[in-house]
Amino acid sequence: MQLLEQEMDAGLSPATHAKADVKMFPTYVRNIANGSETGQVLALDLGGTNFRVLLVDLLPEGKVELTSKIFVIPQSIMLGEGVNLFRHLADCLVDFMKQEKLIQPGVHYPLGFTFSFPCYQEGLASARLTSWTKGFTCAGVVKEDVVKMLQKAIDEKNINVQCVALVNDTVGTLMACAHKKPHTSIGLILGTGTNACYMETLDRIGTWNGDYEEPKQVIINMEWGAFGNNKRLNHVRTRYDEEVDLSSVNPGKQIFEKMISGMYMGEIVRLIILDLMQQDLLFIGQCDNYGDYKTPLFTRGGFYTKFVSTVETDEGIAFSNTRRVLQDIGIRNPTFDDCAIVQHICKNVSKRAARLAGAGVAVLINRINKPHITVGVDGSLYRYHPRFERNMQKCIKNLVNKNIKFEMSLSNDGSGVGAALTVAAEVLSCQNDKNHLTIKNRNNVDDHT
Ligand code: ADP
Ligand code: MG
Repeated sequence: MQLLEQEMDAGLSPATHAKADVKMFPTYVRNIANGSETGQVLALDLGGTNFRVLLVDLLPEGKVELTSKIFVIPQSIMLGEGVNLFRHLADCLVDFMKQEKLIQPGVHYPLGFTFSFPCYQEGLASARLTSWTKGFTCAGVVKEDVVKMLQKAIDEKNINVQCVALVNDTVGTLMACAHKKPHTSIGLILGTGTNACYMETLDRIGTWNGDYEEPKQVIINMEWGAFGNNKRLNHVRTRYDEEVDLSSVNPGKQIFEKMISGMYMGEIVRLIILDLMQQDLLFIGQCDNYGDYKTPLFTRGGFYTKFVSTVETDEGIAFSNTRRVLQDIGIRNPTFDDCAIVQHICKNVSKRAARLAGAGVAVLINRINKPHITVGVDGSLYRYHPRFERNMQKCIKNLVNKNIKFEMSLSNDGSGVGAALTVAAEVLSCQNDKNHLTIKNRNNVDDHT
């Protein structure tokens, strides 16, 4: 916890920011949605394999209605020219707007863009990509303003849509949760990767170059997955962590993430299983089909993180789920002890992950230090693992100041809804500003722009 806080301060200080691992990017999101926002907002959610276009209808009393469509981003576009990526996003947007009959003369829509890649932001609607991750390598985008690139592609389509905000998925999650729970001040992702954001006061952000007007706060996108890149976590890493890192596409990077998130957890378990087998401590004498080394157990990535969840749902001595998983990875007749050992490995690897993430959240809760704090969480690891939430809760409870009440809240559709709420909160806070878009109310074709 102390190390993380030191790294956070390094990221927030202009003297050390350039070299810092935990970048602590100010997002320019300063107004938290409070449930009073109404109107229709479009959102794009690009961050994993799927790309979603959404129409978010913010209704009175905090109700939200969603219409959305998922589009696949073809591999050729993920690896091709950046302009083609943004053209593709605009094509999908037009396709969706036609389907929903949203293209009408004189009707304008504000749009929120959830873009979950590390970005240096220069404003709410201005963000330069620092590096691609998650399998994207589109040329000509790194260091460019991705909002400008998107807007250019949209404008080529002659539709009245303006991108008002770019948000990270952590920020979307925080905003979506804040819409229902006003004490929300932390957003957390535990999915393919892990990252967190929180509301920080301006006087603690040396790198802040925006104005100092009310509200004197801004959401910080921590990019905490990079914690430990400078080897400062080595005292808690194991040789399995080192192996996962060395065989990854980005060795030496995202060290904290590699000990926690879904992309790596199953692989850590697999490496421990292999190690115990080599020491003749597991699956003794049952390796008749290991000859060709083609079973998933011997293949990198062959033990899926969802298997960790499945193994841990077994209670008692039958181990029916564990046996099914072991069969899937090529083990035919595991003994009772084999099953118990595999479950023990899974439980400890996932518990360690929950505690590391929990310690990170505890740092934020203590730093914010308000009487009530809600943590908005999204991501399949947290959503589907049977104990992750409980383990995190226990850990956080032990680590936070006793006078603070905290709760964790699973967010639904955080990325998309959050982007729309960010737009809404921004537009409403600037409603007197003539240059700004005004959100249209449902069925109100009159143009307020
Ligand atoms: P993303 O982070 O890309 O937006 P998700 O939040 O859906 O997407 O996370 C996907 C990751 O969650 C996968 O990489 C996988 O490792 C993990 N995951 C998927 N299903 C489960 C499960 N049942 N239990 C634990 N982890 C899971
Ligand atoms: Mg996601």
